[in-house]
This record gives sequence, C-alpha cells and structure tokens, in this order.
Amino acid sequence: MTTKIHSIPPANKIKGLKCRECGSNYKAEAVHVCEFCFGPLEVDYDYDVIARDFNRAKVEAGPLSLWRYADLLPVEGPPTCGLNVGLTPLVHAKNLGRKLGLNHLYIKNDTVNHPTLSFKDRVVSVAISRAVEFGYKTVACASTGNLANSVSAHAAEAGLGCYVFIPADLEAGKILGNLIYNPTVLAVDGNYDDVNRLCSEIASEYPWAFVNINVRPYYAEGSKTLAFETAEQLGWQAPDHVVAPMASGSLYTKIHKGLNELTKLGLIDAKATRMHGAQATGCSPIAHAFDEKQEFVKPVKPDTIAKSLAIGNPADGYYALKTCATTDGRMAHVSDPEIIDGIKLLAECEGIFAETAGGVTVGSLKKLAAAGTFHPDDVVVAYITGNGLKTQEAVQAHVGKPVHISPSLTAFESQFTLDEKGTTLPKAKTA
Ligand SMILES: *Cc1c(COP(=O)(O)O)cnc(C)c1O
Repeated sequence: MTTKIHSIPPANKIKGLKCRECGSNYKAEAVHVCEFCFGPLEVDYDYDVIARDFNRAKVEAGPLSLWRYADLLPVEGPPTCGLNVGLTPLVHAKNLGRKLGLNHLYIKNDTVNHPTLSFKDRVVSVAISRAVEFGYKTVACASTGNLANSVSAHAAEAGLGCYVFIPADLEAGKILGNLIYNPTVLAVDGNYDDVNRLCSEIASEYPWAFVNINVRPYYAEGSKTLAFETAEQLGWQAPDHVVAPMASGSLYTKIHKGLNELTKLGLIDAKATRMHGAQATGCSPIAHAFDEKQEFVKPVKPDTIAKSLAIGNPADGYYALKTCATTDGRMAHVSDPEIIDGIKLLAECEGIFAETAGGVTVGSLKKLAAAGTFHPDDVVVAYITGNGLKTQEAVQAHVGKPVHISPSLTAFESQFTLDEKGTTLPKAKTA
C-alpha cells in the first residue's frame, strides 16, 4: 500500500520530444513519428533540471511504487493512474543459480505486478497518467495480450472509455482478463502485426490515446522503472548482466536507458552492463538478425506458444540490435518445448509460476549460461515479465496429476507409506 504523499517532480523537466534518427524537436504532445524522416520520437529530458533535486534519499523516501522514480518519468504533475504499480520483488534465485552455476542470479519478479500481473502495468500507468494530462477521455491499444489486460484495468480505475484490440486466438485467461473490466474488446482475425496495422489506421482517425501508438514515447519510458528498481534493490548498483525478453524490443532497450540515466545522475557507479535478449524461436526476428550480423530486422510470421512476445515486425528491433552490439550482449532463442521446460524449471526451483514469456527468458538464460556467457560470481538479473495463470494452456499437458482419494486415512495409506527414516513415500515408487 502506498502511504507516502507523492513528491511533485519538476514540471519543466521535459524539453519535448526528439526524433531518434534525425534529432528534430517536437512539443511533448501525443505524436510518435517524425514528420521529416519517419523516425520514432522519444522523450527529451532536461537532466540538469532533474539533477538539481534527485538523489538516492529522495527515491528511498518516495512512494512504494514505480512512482518513486517520477522525476525520470514523462508526467508533468502527480500521476493519476496506477499509483500502486511496480516495486516488485527482486528475488535471489539460489536454487536456479546453483543449477546454472551462478552465485548471484536474481529474478525481477513482475509476475506479481499490480494490478494485472505483468510488466505491462508499468508502461500503462505511465501512458494513461500522461493521456489524462493531455485530456483524453478514451484509451486504446494494440495488444499481444498483457497490454490489453492492463489498459482495461487502468481505464476502469481512471474512468475512461476503453477499446482494446487483440489477436482473436489469444489464451482464454488473457481474454477474460480484459472482459472482466468491461471495456470494448475487438478480437481481430489476424496476428499482432495485423492488429497493430489496423490500430495505426484507427489512431489517425479517432481522438483516442492508443497507449502503444500515438502515446508510445511516454508509454515506453515506463519500462525504465525495471532498471531503476533493480539497481536500488541491488543496493544501488547496476548488474553485470541483464537477460530480458523481447517482443517489440522496447522493454529491453529501455532497461539499458534506465541504467544509463541513473549513472548520469550519479545514483549508481558506471558499469558496463551486458544486455542479453531472449526470443521464442517461432518469432525471433531480432535474435535472427543478431545471428546473421544484420543491422536491420527482417519481419517474420510468428508461430510460437509465447503469444505475448509474438511480434513479427518489432518496432524497436533496430534499437535492440544496437543496444546488444554496444554492450557486448548476446541474443538467444528457444523452441516451444524449451519454453515449457523453462516455465517448469523456474517454478520448481524458485516457486515462481511464469507465463510463456518467462519460459523464454529462463530457457535463454540457461542457453547463455551453457555457452559460458557469465562468470559464476557475476550479478545476473533475469526479467520475468508475466504470470503463468494467464497462459495455463501452455503447460496443462506437461504437469502431473493430483492423487485422487476418498477422505479416509485408509485411502491415504493405500497410496503412501512411511519409510524407516520417517519420510512419506508414494507406494507406487517404493514397491
Ligand atoms: C509485452 C511483453 C514483453 C515485451 O514487450 P516489448 O514489446 O519488447 O517491450 C515481455 N513480456 C511480456 C509478458 C509482455 O507482455
């Protein structure tokens, strides 16, 4: 629960938006593409203004949510939406680490993010708080699943109209995870890339805040909080390695941006954190470009159980490749069976039930470890971004069954026995 009164960030900390390609400047409005070169726009902060009143103590005294980093988020007043998002646990994964030969493996556990159990609550709370500042009455999104859940929940909280667009073949848990908040859900016959194309057309005709289209520059900034929190939770230091899943590639690039900002502002010492990306083999355009040493990403048609990462034409793929190259990172991709193994491994080792994207991250982490990417004493942080209860169909056929008995001691003892050490064993195994 948030108990702290929110400290108001400096209002003049945002200079505007800037094109990532040609550097053209724009007002900080709901625009996302450069008129001159069609490059993506990014929030341009005045770090001198922010630096005047930003330090560890201020963060530590702030609210118990991602809003303790409001000074580095693109809102001008106090946030209005998603006040309890973020500050999820950073778990020292001792058991999984032992298996992989890593003494300092950490899991950033966004399976328990509030309110919709994925990292998307971070980007949505920022995007909708900004959309409210712009005066929008309706929010929308093109989603691979989790984004729609989060937009639906936050729109309900903020009392806004809500239209979410999803591929029609999403997991049942993710469809229900929209409908319960009673938005308008558009199930599109097509994959995410079709949904996104349609939404781009709608966004240019309707006065709606599409969180990941016209307000994307603000939305994307929310992912930096994954880096801010991690550094604070590690005792104000950057990790040696990051392993993060990639769909559009936005989250992966913004973790790096977040670490750089903390360094620039003097909250952490400079460290050459190596950024490693994870994809599903059935939708691995960024990892594939990395393997082929290409500068640009070639779009693919997704075919994977990791639906939350199934973006065939990733908007930030080019920047993800750049981040990987400049940090001496690696990219890994894993098959559907490896994704299922990854989900089970994390659950059995650490008691964390991740969705398919988490299976991608754990499977990739395992491959990177086997390839000798890490030193046993390196600090490695793996980002687990979504909850397994939303993608139950992925693992349903790959877990055991309950032992069915009637409610009597005899029935129990017909199945189990105590050995001489006092250990209870299933009878089938002792026979
Ligand atoms: C959306 C999503 C991601 C990554 O998204 P990017 O588009 O790369 O920022 C990762 N994990 C989960 C569970 C997601 O829903």
